[in-house]
Amino acid sequence: MTDICLTMRDIYSARARIAPIARKTPLVSSPVLAELTGREITLKLENLQETGSFKLRGATNKVLSLDPEVRQRGVVAVSSGNHGRGVAYVARRLGLRAVVFLADTVPANKQEAIQKLGAEVAVRGSTYEEASKEAHRLVEKEGLEMIHPYNDPLVIAGQGTVGLELLEEFPDLDTVVIPLSGGGLLGGTAFALKSADSGIHVVGVSMEKGAAMVESLRAGRVVEIVEEPTLAHALAGDIYPCNYTFPLVQKTIDETVLVSEEEIAAAMAFALEKHHLVVEGGGAVGISALISGKVKHLGKHVAVVISGGNVDMSVLLRVAREHLDQHSS
Ligand SMILES: *Cc1c(COP(=O)(O)O)cnc(C)c1O
Repeated sequence: MTDICLTMRDIYSARARIAPIARKTPLVSSPVLAELTGREITLKLENLQETGSFKLRGATNKVLSLDPEVRQRGVVAVSSGNHGRGVAYVARRLGLRAVVFLADTVPANKQEAIQKLGAEVAVRGSTYEEASKEAHRLVEKEGLEMIHPYNDPLVIAGQGTVGLELLEEFPDLDTVVIPLSGGGLLGGTAFALKSADSGIHVVGVSMEKGAAMVESLRAGRVVEIVEEPTLAHALAGDIYPCNYTFPLVQKTIDETVLVSEEEIAAAMAFALEKHHLVVEGGGAVGISALISGKVKHLGKHVAVVISGGNVDMSVLLRVAREHLDQHSS
């Protein structure tokens, strides 16, 4: 797999580079999901990553790879929340200026977390697209460096370190279930896993409402979608441009699954109740795919990437309460 943007060397380099900043996250087995599915199920807990999502890996790899003079002018991110928080965190650690552009749909808890890290937060427009236009204007005016959330080989290599950690701690795995939006996480992780064993089955999961990458895979080209409100906020929005991740995902993905809002809520409540884990909607879709029985080819040893935990507490409590009510009625 050398005709796409990435080599295993890139992913190993990323691991060495990001080690002082992004932590190696734990794997835990899920006896309840194992009983439900009849398979060994292991969860990779990126919700316990520093900043609450895997996005820190890619952001750190990219920022640390910049020429020090370039870096010193500052960095910019456009984000649905988690990427901006990753960029803000690494910028603070390195003493750099960071400006994070957000659409006004980004949950308040995510905006606040980014501000607390000392980044300048600019809320612009009501879609990722609109925020992005403003960000590019600032980049042109002030010469800051744009850090893309997925469409960058260094970002993809950073996310791919999840794959290395999976292989080391769970070498038996034959299936991996990964939340899917722009495809940096899936592309990088699947590349690492398939380089070790091309037979590993890769399942990408998105929400039914506005699944840009899944629609694009079906069309064979990147298509625009209508952004809709969803519990899996971190997976929403258009994926244009993605000239790196689109071909990489096309090449490495074996199966896609779409899950409903109800299935996402059920998975968030499940993670809280059965694992005492706080998981955001976008981070829980892998669990949704398993509970709903929607994965067609499930091997014997399954890893599920729990990609983030930055959920607004009031949302989590509402979701949990609704599901606890269902249990007792
Ligand atoms: C960004 C994000 C994803 C999707 O990652 P991509 O690389 O864009 O596919 C999944 N889960 C969470 C929590 C995220 O923040």
